[in-house]
Amino acid sequence: DKKIKRIDSARDKARAREKDSERLKVEENVFDVPTLKILYTLSNKGIIKAMGGAISTGKEANVFYAEGEEKELAIKIYRIASSTFKAMDAYIMKDPRFTNIRNNRRDIIFAWTRKELQNLKRAKSAGVRVPEPIIAEKNILIMEFMGEEKTPYPLLKNTPLKNDEAKLVYDKIVEYMRLLYKEANLVHADLSEYNVLIDPADTTPIFIDMGQSVTLEHPNAREFLYRDVQNILRFFGRYGITDKPEELLSKIQAD
Ligand code: ADP
Ligand code: MN
Repeated sequence: DKKIKRIDSARDKARAREKDSERLKVEENVFDVPTLKILYTLSNKGIIKAMGGAISTGKEANVFYAEGEEKELAIKIYRIASSTFKAMDAYIMKDPRFTNIRNNRRDIIFAWTRKELQNLKRAKSAGVRVPEPIIAEKNILIMEFMGEEKTPYPLLKNTPLKNDEAKLVYDKIVEYMRLLYKEANLVHADLSEYNVLIDPADTTPIFIDMGQSVTLEHPNAREFLYRDVQNILRFFGRYGITDKPEELLSKIQAD
């Protein structure tokens, strides 16, 4: 019995080490020397006062908590080395705003980061609730932290809702999709319960993750919009929302 316990604890330690080394590998990938230099510069300028912990490790980017001058910040760092950047090509190469970027990995990632900043600005000006974008520098995007006590607001996916609350959230999301489309000339293009946060104080949705958002001139804009519509309807189906895709589309395209 004791022997088994010893083996268990040794195995747990080994696992912890393994996990640790995985974490270190990720950090090594995200905090390369050029990225560290930009972070130092931003900190010398007073934009970042203190770096905090990791919030998320995604396919292309890591998000960290940080303290800014007055506000808390979310720092999204696109990884140069290990991001699945090939997927970015299809979005950015056909975007009329980004026709003259060279076809190399770093430039595509830098353009992508600037695009996310611009998309957030356009969304915010259109009246969509998004994190306030602050600055984009190479592969680093700094924005307002949406959360409380260093903890991000929950994703829509993880927010328990009663049917009547869900209906209000749905209506607000539809309104935001319409404002994006009509006022900002944008399609989110990765909209789902994974890219909407919920402010627990008033259950308002907050759109995030707009790197891939495209203008309506993009040749795939309609296809992306239709996919967003289907994702939203699939999610809200469980709360008794019965809109058909065409109905939701016409709400988004209404004046
Ligand atoms: P990814 O491309 O990795 O999906 P996201 O922009 O969706 O990147 O961010 C990943 C996660 O980081 C989100 O699910 C959310 O939990 C957190 N996050 C992103 N932006 C913010 C923000 N401005 N404030 C608080 N948390 C954020
Ligand atoms: Mn996301």
